[in-house]
Amino acid sequence: MEFEDLESIETLCVHSDGKGDEKWGSVVTPIYQTSIFKFPNAEEGSKRFLTGKGYIYTRLKNPTINQLEEVLTALEGGSCGMVTSTGMAAVSTLYFSLLNKGDHMIGNDCIYAPSRTIMEKEFSRFGVEYSFIDTSNINNIKKEIKKNTKLIFIETPANPTLKIGDIKKCSEIAKKIGAILAVDNTFASPILQNPLKLGADVVLHSLTKFINGHSDALGGALIFKDPDLGNRVRKVLLNFGGTMDPHQAWLILRGVKTLPLRVLTAQKNAKLIANFLENHKAIEKIYYPALKSFPQRELAKKQMKGPGSMISFILKGGYEAGVKLLNNVKIPALAVSLGGIESLIQHPASMTHSGLTEKQREEAGISKGLVRLSVGCENVRDLIRDLKKGLDLCL
Ligand SMILES: *Cc1c(COP(=O)(O)O)cnc(C)c1O
Repeated sequence: MEFEDLESIETLCVHSDGKGDEKWGSVVTPIYQTSIFKFPNAEEGSKRFLTGKGYIYTRLKNPTINQLEEVLTALEGGSCGMVTSTGMAAVSTLYFSLLNKGDHMIGNDCIYAPSRTIMEKEFSRFGVEYSFIDTSNINNIKKEIKKNTKLIFIETPANPTLKIGDIKKCSEIAKKIGAILAVDNTFASPILQNPLKLGADVVLHSLTKFINGHSDALGGALIFKDPDLGNRVRKVLLNFGGTMDPHQAWLILRGVKTLPLRVLTAQKNAKLIANFLENHKAIEKIYYPALKSFPQRELAKKQMKGPGSMISFILKGGYEAGVKLLNNVKIPALAVSLGGIESLIQHPASMTHSGLTEKQREEAGISKGLVRLSVGCENVRDLIRDLKKGLDLCL
């Protein structure tokens, strides 16, 4: 079965195993847990090196890993894609491949914190320049463009304030100056947003989140519109070694099958929870793209198929109230990460974003009282009852 024949995203996900294993007829993609592949003879071995066709060594190519790459490429509507050991391996591969000494990149100030710190602390050692700014305002990007700007890298919705970057407008700017636009699509997942279709050149995912969805594997992906660009990046990835392991790829392939079910169920829950939170007296402010109070609601509606299942909120009682809530809810696990089938709750200022300075956090809108909730697929009445119990203690 060719992926192009599958009309809808649900069918594509459910049939993510494609042909399965033709030799034995297994429906599920086998785990080719091998580091090497035998050559039938010396001539064929030499041919594989020469042409790049066929299998040699798992860091270079492996059938289980290939299957995942093909599904993800089809899900994002790309021409070429590759998976990596973690989401951060995808970010570092992207930086290594696209940026030279003296080049400049623009990223959003509330981008996934390590995506920012590796640029500021490590890539700067090689003479790469950067600006992390509020990219949700397109004029800020225009002002920050330099002659050497080669990469615009936005995360939308962004972590944890859910600020939205206008992908189409960013792609117009990137095209005009000959830069590449990369979009971290982890928060939306391919179910709710397809940046390549809106003009981006590269989509990045932490597969650890929604795509695997079961909080039991790590992974990353880069998906490209232009196959030449993709192949250039693939060479960097294969030699730097941030490739995926076959068992990891198999787990994530299994996760992909239920991706639409999970994303839509969690989103349905999140909409109800956001309404509940907005009306609770312990809450000062809430960030959720479907709410009327969300400043970029219209833009979110335009470029996304739904508001997703990430909610952030500030408690009137500040940090102390946040601690009380985190210590008193029973259902959401007190843990970082997001996009799992289970609900997760955390405090960005002291956890995921503690690596930023206080000033950087302030500029990115991450106040001390901000709590981030990744809504899962539990029964929504149970979740609301549990959150209410915790929030009532904060009054
Ligand atoms: C988690 C995450 C990453 C990094 O992914 P890892 O798999 O943890 O390396 C990058 N971007 C976003 C938006 C993330 O949430």
